[in-house]
Amino acid sequence: MRRISELIIHCTATFADQRVTVADITRWHKQRGWHTIGYHYLIDQAGNIFPGRPENQSGAHCLNHNAHSIGIAYCGGLDANGNPADTRTPAQKAALIRLLTELKHRYPHATIHSHRDFAPKACPCFDATTEYAHL
Ligand SMILES: [Zn+2]
Repeated sequence: MRRISELIIHCTATFADQRVTVADITRWHKQRGWHTIGYHYLIDQAGNIFPGRPENQSGAHCLNHNAHSIGIAYCGGLDANGNPADTRTPAQKAALIRLLTELKHRYPHATIHSHRDFAPKACPCFDATTEYAHL
């Protein structure tokens, strides 16, 4: 298994009510030349947690951090005008806490970060680093 030292939170940069599946993102990421979806987990608006890339494989979600991290994305991140926004539903917020708690149990030394901590982007459109500092 890889050494996991960071759990990095993303949004999919799609509209709040837009249905986005693992299959959709796999297709988009293959178009970028990656062999499959770049994230390890995807959380839909109903709070369902879907596995993406296997945890034992490096992801493709955060430049210079992929080798030692797990990438988690919630579906959304854009308001109706296409601007970055925290569009997480209550179910997504609960699922994020559930998944992060489980991952912290398995990787107790991993720290939780927003993608934007490492890249000049809005992603994930909220301050995950502060919000999950207590986990
Ligand atoms: Zn991101």
